[in-house]
Amino acid sequence: MKKKILGGLLSAFLLHASAADWYAPQEPFQLYGSTYYVGTGGISAVLITSPAGHILVDVGGPQAADQVAAHIRQLGFRLEDIRYILNSHAHPDHAGAIAALQKLSGATVLAGAPAIHALESGQPDPSDPQYPGLTPMSPIAKLRAVRDGETIRLGALAVTAHATPGHTKGGMSWTWQATENGRSVNVVFADSLFGIAAEGRSFSRNPQYPRARADIERSMASIDTLPCDVLISAHPEFGGLWERKAKQATRGDAAFIDTGACHSYVAKAREVLAETLADDAALDKKRAAMP
Ligand SMILES: [Zn+2]
Repeated sequence: MKKKILGGLLSAFLLHASAADWYAPQEPFQLYGSTYYVGTGGISAVLITSPAGHILVDVGGPQAADQVAAHIRQLGFRLEDIRYILNSHAHPDHAGAIAALQKLSGATVLAGAPAIHALESGQPDPSDPQYPGLTPMSPIAKLRAVRDGETIRLGALAVTAHATPGHTKGGMSWTWQATENGRSVNVVFADSLFGIAAEGRSFSRNPQYPRARADIERSMASIDTLPCDVLISAHPEFGGLWERKAKQATRGDAAFIDTGACHSYVAKAREVLAETLADDAALDKKRAAMP
């Protein structure tokens, strides 16, 4: 029963949360070493800084652009020094502000190959599980597709791409090391792992994306087995970011380290998938009963 409620809450949030929650003001803060949270209250954006230039992972929806730009400046960094903007997945709430930040920075945008068309055109992908419930985005100009396992290098920074399809076909998660006082930790920016379909549509029986279930199950297994000390999920609360931030006063630098965070995140995603599959089965039954 608890499972049903948790899954229900997550799906309700993901599908119907009001923009006001997602764009709640949030002060930027250091996560670990040269890794900073620069997103809003409900959508993650992470800045990785280096003397050779910076990397930004996700920005948020269009309304997040000004906040994220202000957060980066507030921390003392220049937008012009951002060389790459990495994207988790091509949904408006994570990629809608990329075009604006790209204009301000001149950065190259990197994403999974199946996401490139939606990002370049700004038009939702008809094979997306949440199609047609997606709004268009501002088209992005300077894009490059990255392969699963590819490492993006910038000076001493090395960020590795991990294909995590299922929530979308082109989903990517990103990992790197952050160092503070001689201690290095594994940081994971985890893509959304929630298997949800547009209202009235089947997630697991989508003729446009028949591999969706197999993909998302593999993506969950891959996030579950990553070395994971500091997790930031595309929507921060699902990775427990705010609970960990609350411990900062007592635990200091180590507050964001939780080696169980990726497991908990995947466990939540598995509950959502189980609920979605039950909904899909009910939909099958309803369709079978139609004359
Ligand atoms: Zn999404």
